[in-house]
Amino acid sequence: MKTTFIEYRPTLRQAIKQWGKDAQIDMLHEEIGELLQAINKHKRKGTDETITNLIEEIADVEILLEQLKLMINGHAGVEVFKIEKLQRLQKRLDKDDFELND
Ligand SMILES: [Mg+2]
Repeated sequence: MKTTFIEYRPTLRQAIKQWGKDAQIDMLHEEIGELLQAINKHKRKGTDETITNLIEEIADVEILLEQLKLMINGHAGVEVFKIEKLQRLQKRLDKDDFELND
């Protein structure tokens, strides 16, 4: 039994191969919509139920973002951008300059 996210990469590759890139990208759009709804619902009135829903929708989006990264071989590039952006964020925090543009 696989128990870590990375062990399921072959499953995600199979989903892309079996159902196609377009279908998986359409699914990503749908799941992002569900996540936005869950965020809004939790923001309006947070409960244990809205938190559980939010967590589930985050998982759905992360699974599909992982597939998108596999489709474009984007894992390393995403990591590079994340680190650069986090370094900029830390600099802004140190200056207490509240803006998150790029
Ligand atoms: Mg969902």
